[in-house]
Amino acid sequence: MEASLFAQMISESLAKNKEEFNNLSQLIWAHPETQYDEHFAHALLTDFLSKEGFVVEKAYAGVPTAFRAEIATSDYVVGSHPVIAILCEYDALPEIGHACGHNLIAEVGIAAGCAVRDVLLSNSQTKFPGKVVVLGCPAEEGGGGKIDLINFGCFRDIDFVMMAHPFPHDVLHCITLGIERCTVEFFGRATHASCQPWEGVNALDAAISAYNAVSLSRQQMKPDWRAHAIIAKGGTVPNVIPDHSESQYYMRCQNMEDMAILKSKLIQCFECAAEATGCRMVLSWDPKPYLPLRSNRTMASTFGDFAQAENLVYGPDPGLHGSSDIGNVSMVVPTIHPRFFVGESHLIHTREFQKLAGSSKTQPYCLRMAKIMALTAVELFINKSLREKVTREFDGC
Ligand SMILES: [Zn+2]
Ligand SMILES: [Zn+2]
Repeated sequence: MEASLFAQMISESLAKNKEEFNNLSQLIWAHPETQYDEHFAHALLTDFLSKEGFVVEKAYAGVPTAFRAEIATSDYVVGSHPVIAILCEYDALPEIGHACGHNLIAEVGIAAGCAVRDVLLSNSQTKFPGKVVVLGCPAEEGGGGKIDLINFGCFRDIDFVMMAHPFPHDVLHCITLGIERCTVEFFGRATHASCQPWEGVNALDAAISAYNAVSLSRQQMKPDWRAHAIIAKGGTVPNVIPDHSESQYYMRCQNMEDMAILKSKLIQCFECAAEATGCRMVLSWDPKPYLPLRSNRTMASTFGDFAQAENLVYGPDPGLHGSSDIGNVSMVVPTIHPRFFVGESHLIHTREFQKLAGSSKTQPYCLRMAKIMALTAVELFINKSLREKVTREFDGC
């Protein structure tokens, strides 16, 4: 079948359900739910996918708000034919709701999944066995839902992964930084801050000293390293020397070799602060670090070719790098994670972007992304040499 006929089939599929896709997105936007609490979105999306004929597993991998929905051609044979997963996110941020636009990630993922389904099931005209999986991944904004799915073995039967994230710019070869998170607690001794301050051991001073030492060390950090923190607890009233403080630190790097160096620098700052103030330090690391994204260039290049045909021309990466657990997925399966412009150039995690993510004027951009994603998926199904090239790149051959 001609590639243009697939494009036509995909366009028709997207146009047919576009009101429903928009409705799903708007409903998720209007009911923001934070990490692992996405019960409304989970029910909404799984009900929709069941209605659309997907075989749906709710609470997938023992994670109450994860799901897996799949559909295969009748001649699909496990282990012999390709499996392509399209990922959805649907968690929100505390207080500012869908300021990262994950409702739009869900919209693109569901729309692309349905379009690929329509091509796969038109098997009287097309002959390429395969399976498409729409994977519902909770807790990206902290929590690391995709890491739970990796640890459960959910990606073992999946050959290729795609996901698209809304952003102020279109970015094809997306970079995300690895991130490690830790909590630093200092324990001192409380005393009256005026009568006998010399008897106290000041845990707030330790937190401030550590914070300042990290700030000073930034001059010796590489340009793409990030270290940022808040002091979450620093005492209760000024006339008691604080005997407990708690700070939270995030550290980010483009590779985990640099991360080991950055971590050791920060640990030195924490230890020196404890030493200088006489406090005891307790350091706890988040057990689920996010790894840097290893975007598959072969898959991304195919995606870019289809994007060009849709009048989407990618420019240079504007260099605005966050972190995501899609990085961890990219270490176990060939993955792409393009970012897409949604009509206005507001930075994510802002109130302006939250407002934009709830607007139906983002839909043309979401549908265009879903179309390019579906075309890329179909190309992977039909083009064996492309699949082999993607896998060779992933294997480092
Ligand atoms: Zn975010
Ligand atoms: Zn996000």
